[in-house]
Amino acid sequence: MNPFDELPLRDDLRGQTPYGAPQLDVPYRLNTNENPYPLPEPVADAVEKALKEVLRDLNRYPDRDAVGLRESLATYLGHGLTSANIWAANGSNEILQQLLQAFGGKGRTAMGFSPSYSMHPILATGTGTEWIDSRRGTNFELTPEHARAQVRVFQPDIVFLCSPNNPTGTALELEVIEAVAQETLGMVIVDEAYAEFARPGTPSALTLLPKYRRLVVTRTMSKAFAFAGTRLGYLAAHPDVVDALQLVRLPYHLSTLTQAAARAALDHAPTLLAQVEAIKQQRDRIVAELRGLGLTVADSDANFVLFGKFRDQKAVWQALLDRGVLVRDVGLDGWLRVTAGTPEETSAFLTAMGEIPDGS
Ligand code: PMP
Repeated sequence: MNPFDELPLRDDLRGQTPYGAPQLDVPYRLNTNENPYPLPEPVADAVEKALKEVLRDLNRYPDRDAVGLRESLATYLGHGLTSANIWAANGSNEILQQLLQAFGGKGRTAMGFSPSYSMHPILATGTGTEWIDSRRGTNFELTPEHARAQVRVFQPDIVFLCSPNNPTGTALELEVIEAVAQETLGMVIVDEAYAEFARPGTPSALTLLPKYRRLVVTRTMSKAFAFAGTRLGYLAAHPDVVDALQLVRLPYHLSTLTQAAARAALDHAPTLLAQVEAIKQQRDRIVAELRGLGLTVADSDANFVLFGKFRDQKAVWQALLDRGVLVRDVGLDGWLRVTAGTPEETSAFLTAMGEIPDGS
């Protein structure tokens, strides 16, 4: 019997599955695009000091508007942005959820171009927003023409773009984002969770913000900042968008501890971001070596790599796990995704791949 049969669960949630990357205890966890490096000592010290300073104020609610943190985030992003352009929440997933609560909902639609980040449709469904699944091309490409045509046909209230795209890894050209922004009367959300890992010459959608009032760029400290456990995501947009989100955010949603930790980490942004270059090197090494093994590998602007094509990717996933390496089966026939780790983790993955017969 379905355990939900006895519960008055919403009809549109029946039969859905929750987001659930396995959290297995194996030597090499390369399945959730985490940053493999622990916080550098000076940053950990600064965070500890900042947390200590606020501990005795925990009897009070936090700054509901998180103004200090938003100022730090605006300074980090640059592009002439101020705190009025920034909003922060518990991970960019919560930012995306708030955007859907404010601009989606019952009777409204959100569209994305799959394969893309699996949480976009899950968050849409959770907020009662109908999901429209448009497809990328056979090589996962998304052209301005195709994107524009799909928006014209479906007229969604929200369009999700993901750049660099998860799980394929490749960044979008700004022309695609502009084509969508010009065509739609709805909101355009560019999920830039992996922006800091982009290859040189890849511009951010932040450069387009002055031109498009309904454009939103979402970012996170989970990846480049090695801060996934803190849960801190944010967006940059027109101040009116930030004001609109105040209608749906929970009061005091960002704890005093989270705000203090994130501000301290942002004060040390260059130290934290120094690791990004090391991760990009391992990413490029994975791309080159897997191609050397004769595999098909998508270009990556992220801290992960999509590779295939296997006759049976589940068997390859299991063979890697048998060798202590956990990668991600993203549900794409023939493909697997691996996160770039430390040089040692990356070597373990590549050695294992060398041992596994193609398409086993
Ligand atoms: N967007 C994309 C494309 C992601 O891959 C992820 C995390 N896997 C997120 C957003 C959410 O990250 P967080 O909630 O940790 O900020």
